Amino acid sequence: MTSDIMNNSELCAKELQYEMNLYGKRGIALERGEKEFVYDVEGKRYIDCNTGVGVAILGHAHPAVVSAVQKQAGKLMSCQSPFANQERARLLERLSALFGTPSKVFLCSSGTESVEAALKLSRKKTGRKAFVSAMNAFHGRSSGALSVTFKEKYRAPFEPLLGPVVRTRFNDIESLKASMTSETAALILEPVQGEGGIRLATQEYLKAARDICTDRGALLICDEVQCGTGRTGKFFAYEHFGIRPDVVCLAKGLGGGVPIGATIASEDVSAFTPLEHGTTFGGNPLACAAANAVLDAIEREALLAKVAADGAYMMEKLRTSLSGKQQFREVRGMGFMIAIELKVMSKEPLAALLQKGVLALPAGEQVVRLLPPYIISHESLDAAAAAISGVVQ
Ligand SMILES: *Cc1c(COP(=O)(O)O)cnc(C)c1O
Repeated sequence: MTSDIMNNSELCAKELQYEMNLYGKRGIALERGEKEFVYDVEGKRYIDCNTGVGVAILGHAHPAVVSAVQKQAGKLMSCQSPFANQERARLLERLSALFGTPSKVFLCSSGTESVEAALKLSRKKTGRKAFVSAMNAFHGRSSGALSVTFKEKYRAPFEPLLGPVVRTRFNDIESLKASMTSETAALILEPVQGEGGIRLATQEYLKAARDICTDRGALLICDEVQCGTGRTGKFFAYEHFGIRPDVVCLAKGLGGGVPIGATIASEDVSAFTPLEHGTTFGGNPLACAAANAVLDAIEREALLAKVAADGAYMMEKLRTSLSGKQQFREVRGMGFMIAIELKVMSKEPLAALLQKGVLALPAGEQVVRLLPPYIISHESLDAAAAAISGVVQ
């Protein structure tokens, strides 16, 4: 089958015409990808530091993921959870083992669903209603996850949402102490805030959060939908902080591009009883096979160490090439979660970067965010850093 629509602008226009008015378009249509590169329909190549907001962690068309998906597609794609399956059993066991203490796993298909399950579990376990979440937090768009998301603009049209929700200042222990009461079911935090601008929790803060939750009988949920699955150089970002939450949420990168999410909870807080929660697509063999291939590749290719080392390499490179520029404020991040904060809006530099063949994304108004695939070469990191230096005055 051929389509008479071939170019970038026509495809963008067609999507804008028929898609609900939610996303806007960046002006190009992507057709294929290989490793850290994507190609638009006009054949132009880009270094992909956007990766579908940190989804394509092994880059594009990674042979192990392609082969796992192809094989599983030809075998069995649909298998609802009352029936067991080899790929699902293997993934459940591995995720539980990665959490490192007796734990239970709920599989779903997106980040917001993994947060939704964590919130419901917290109410079930504690019998309490209230949640505490951080300023500038992003936890998703379904009604529960949206309730604990910070941005007023996202929430206001859809009130009333879940409540009560207390919004506490990120990295402020006194504010946290004042926010947590005997009515708090859970505190939900991103160890590294993603949409909020790549903001790292401090060691003291996450440790205090752990202690306060234990003390008040509330659950600590780490939303690692963006910062988990190795993005910071450890499998879970919370491992950098010497704590373990009661519940951790994963999604984005876990399936290497195939939609999958997971909520992992310590066994002692896994309070659901049959049919209190569930989802049709959660744990389907196709997604589980992809996730198993991703976890295998992370191990086999020693990608956690690579992300830690190359993340530091890239941040240093950026600091060196940007220091002294008028529009430049700072580089910060952890592993391959990198923010270049500017003193100007990031929209124009991002558009200029795209023209230069580098895809990056915003995080707030003045941040250029990089979420490169773990397999990216030094050559491509160098080229991306040079392009960034070229668009910041
Ligand atoms: C993206 C994101 C979500 C929501 O995930 P979706 O798959 O878009 O529903 C939740 N939490 C964090 C930290 C995210 O970055």
